[in-house]
Amino acid sequence: MNSRSFVPAPVNEPILSYAPGSPERAKFFARLNEMKSKKVDVPLYIGAEEIRTGKKIDLRSPYDHEQLLGKAHQGGALEVRRAITAALKARKDWSRMPFSARAAIFLKAADLLAGDWRWTLNAATMLCQSKNLYQAEIDSACELIDFLRFNAHFAEGIYAAQPNSSRGMWNRLEYRPLEGFVFAVTPFNFTAIAGNLPTAPALMGNTVVWKPATSALYTAHFLMKLFQEAGLPPGVINLVSGPAAEISDAILAHPDLAGVHFTGSTGVFHALWKTVGANIARYKTYPRLVGETGGKDFVLAHASADPEAVATALVRGAFEYQGQKCSAASRAYVPAGLWPQVRKSMKGMLAAVEVGTPEDPGNFVNAIIDRRAYEGIVRYIDAAKKVKGNKIVFGGTYDSSKGYFVTPTVIESSDPKSLTMCEEVFGPVLTVHVYPDNKWKETLALVDSTSPYALTGSVFARDRHVVLEAERALVNAAGNFYINDKPTGAVVGQQPFGGARASGTNDKAGSYLNLLRWVSPRTIKETFDPPKDFRYPFLARDAA
Ligand code: NAD
Repeated sequence: MNSRSFVPAPVNEPILSYAPGSPERAKFFARLNEMKSKKVDVPLYIGAEEIRTGKKIDLRSPYDHEQLLGKAHQGGALEVRRAITAALKARKDWSRMPFSARAAIFLKAADLLAGDWRWTLNAATMLCQSKNLYQAEIDSACELIDFLRFNAHFAEGIYAAQPNSSRGMWNRLEYRPLEGFVFAVTPFNFTAIAGNLPTAPALMGNTVVWKPATSALYTAHFLMKLFQEAGLPPGVINLVSGPAAEISDAILAHPDLAGVHFTGSTGVFHALWKTVGANIARYKTYPRLVGETGGKDFVLAHASADPEAVATALVRGAFEYQGQKCSAASRAYVPAGLWPQVRKSMKGMLAAVEVGTPEDPGNFVNAIIDRRAYEGIVRYIDAAKKVKGNKIVFGGTYDSSKGYFVTPTVIESSDPKSLTMCEEVFGPVLTVHVYPDNKWKETLALVDSTSPYALTGSVFARDRHVVLEAERALVNAAGNFYINDKPTGAVVGQQPFGGARASGTNDKAGSYLNLLRWVSPRTIKETFDPPKDFRYPFLARDAA
């Protein structure tokens, strides 16, 4: 207790290759097969209890309708009230636990995940969210390990930031956890986000009610088991699941709501914000609202760009994880002079891309998360085919007979404001607008004004003046701006992630900025020798 300790300096978790014959490949597939052979029964985790309501839903792999992973129990307002009570009870000890003890739990979780738990979480992410070996590895292993280790390091930096003290006094800032509980709501598409949203506020001393995406409940269950094994006390993170609106209405009506940590679509965040606004007079404190939401991420190529680099960035940026990354490239602007080379190169690469089950490592593109998402993407593709001025350059086909598969689809659109140039499709659909070579400046303005979002974007150019011009013109068009790189793949500790405009509150997950939202500082001034006379020297009158 009586020492000043330092969090071990974090380094990014190395990405394993999973090449044929590698030990990681053998271990991963052994765990995958073991997990496939066992059906899970996912409870709600409330305090020290596992709650089984008996109202169950099936958990299935998106790439194989026949592959049942297990069942998950669903709760409602009653379970929400119990979870809030458990969180508030756990807060008493957790908020006063020394930081080193809290941090040690999450650092241990990172180490467990870097070891044998890696195969479990990666296999769960493949089985449940249809990520291939590489996509699972960079998400559920590396990014989550990085969140856990870097957050502990950033928290330490926050606590170390202290005010000055004049003589005779000592000023301190105490970074209190928020007064109440935090509601974490997570999307299906990143296991790392599912792990980070409840743990980041918890690291800062808060207790949490966590609602994972229903389509990622299987993986959420293993995350809870990992946190438990790392020594997280009961009630610090409580997992509830059930009809989203019923759960969130019950939570947002509670007077002790102190914060919302959300990642998901813009529409849902708007609804949460509105409800918080309508309930504002009920709360004991103004809830912190942190939301990372949708995107319509761009790639803008200049005539001086390397066409091979543009084509590669588009194929990887638009189609990895089936375009279901918030950062996925979904609209591109290519000058007419460069387009024939970019198109040819992309078509060549896409012809070599295989679509199918992630259990076959040869498949680069896998299944869409669920039927609703699949049908939404199909609607966009079918509508785009009917638009005069649109050409399907590649793909445009889909098949849901075995799993939810959509081929990588490239649409060339003569109208820069056509539907798929403007709206988030959240699937493997890229729309390209070919602009006249002499309309660079106009295209910059177009990129900036086309969509309400501002999450990620890339510019490709070899001319430095042009890069600078784009950097300035697109200053508010993306929270993560890339130069000669694809707009996806942000790494914790290297490219803090988040966007503004309709893409979120830009609190930068994986940085000290996010952690600051989960504390409410108290300033403490202590005077060592307090004055004992109310009179100041100026009160004395001049001698006559
Ligand atoms: P979603 O909005 O459908 O769901 C997100 C979460 O909100 C889930 O847990 C869901 O159950 C819950 N939810 C849904 N309706 C709700 C309601 N009425 N009240 C309360 N909660 C509700 O999003 P998704 O399909 O899981 O994820 C895809 C979306 O997330 C895309 O728009 C994507 O751009 C965005 N996203 C953004 C980032 C980012 O960092 N900006 C990262 C990942 C995903």
